[in-house]
Amino acid sequence: MIPSVLPTYSRAPLSFVKGEGSWLVEADGRRFLDLGAGIAVNALGHAHPALVAALTEQANALWHTSNLYQIPQQQALADRLVAASFADTVFFTNSGTESCELAVKMARKHFFEEGQPDRVEIITFAGSFHGRSSAGIAAAGSEKMTRGFGPMLPGFVHLDWADHDAIEPAITDKTAAILVEPVQGEGGIRPLPDQCLKGLRDLCDRHGILLILDEVQCGVGRTGRLFAHEWAGIDPDIMMVAKGIGGGFPLGAVLATEDAASGMVAGTHGSTYGGNPLGCAVGCKVLDIIDTPEFLAEVTRKSGLLRQKLEGLVAAHPDVFAEIRGVGLMLGVICRVPCADVVAAGYAQNVLTVPAADNVIRLLPPLTITDAEIDDAIARLDRAAASLKS
Ligand SMILES: *Cc1c(COP(=O)(O)O)cnc(C)c1O
Repeated sequence: MIPSVLPTYSRAPLSFVKGEGSWLVEADGRRFLDLGAGIAVNALGHAHPALVAALTEQANALWHTSNLYQIPQQQALADRLVAASFADTVFFTNSGTESCELAVKMARKHFFEEGQPDRVEIITFAGSFHGRSSAGIAAAGSEKMTRGFGPMLPGFVHLDWADHDAIEPAITDKTAAILVEPVQGEGGIRPLPDQCLKGLRDLCDRHGILLILDEVQCGVGRTGRLFAHEWAGIDPDIMMVAKGIGGGFPLGAVLATEDAASGMVAGTHGSTYGGNPLGCAVGCKVLDIIDTPEFLAEVTRKSGLLRQKLEGLVAAHPDVFAEIRGVGLMLGVICRVPCADVVAAGYAQNVLTVPAADNVIRLLPPLTITDAEIDDAIARLDRAAASLKS
């Protein structure tokens, strides 16, 4: 008999009743060090007092009005994001996949309104993940995500991840945009080198097409900059955001330049919940905390510490771990044994990691993780690795 919860996940036999900072607590009191942070969502850890206060204050005042009316919290968050980024304008969603939907629509509409209605194609890369909607799976294009869900939304051109030379020839008079994650998350924490991101920007400029960045996982302080593309010193035309921006409240956004968004006039797009007062009140508080030079510098410092200790772990367990890669507190450990075994061995040591493609375990801890918790994490991963050898 089918379970009452649609069985699309294979879940670990863990269930938590409380969260405190970097820790999750089971009903029997057992505590787990959370290096997954709800897949890079709980950027400030669990139950951060400032976020709890922002949410409860807003919950006591007003939950939802719809976008038929002005929403001051939404206006405030949009103003902040515009001030802090390349963007001139922001649309709020509830998830990364909804941000993908709008990014695709916006790029096509841009060219339609410019009198180039045939420019509909979007170039994407192998190993990418852009959400589970029809556009999201068509964009990523992997067999695993698309099989049985046809017909696929047309208009996506899939290229290999590292094949630079294939990109320019793939650009035609039908191409609207290139869509890429600056650091692939689900694909196994694969950072796009800065010079490649610069190269994509140049290519887009030369061909008059749009650069869309998916920063759903790597954005909002995760890499030590507010947005990951800042490391490369370039700006996209459109950017998808979600996960960390809500700190655990479902919130997403599409940021865009005025030019890229030019087709999106009244009536062209909408969302009942998107940009609701609860989500935006929390999002403003998340940015208050993360978007300071001090906080972001701490992410980079702690990344260095974690990375250095992980290198030691790899050296100590060369038969379990192969290599570290990633940026900031978005680190991947390539495993020599099945990564699911490492994740499971971690559960036995009360430490949570997240599997990814390319046989990688992802470490996406709360950005607020302490130095002592980093030491603790390494000790637990060390015991987990040791347990796999016997
Ligand atoms: C998680 C993710 C998405 C999808 O976000 P949802 O909120 O799950 O819809 C899209 N792109 C990237 C890079 C992601 O990591």
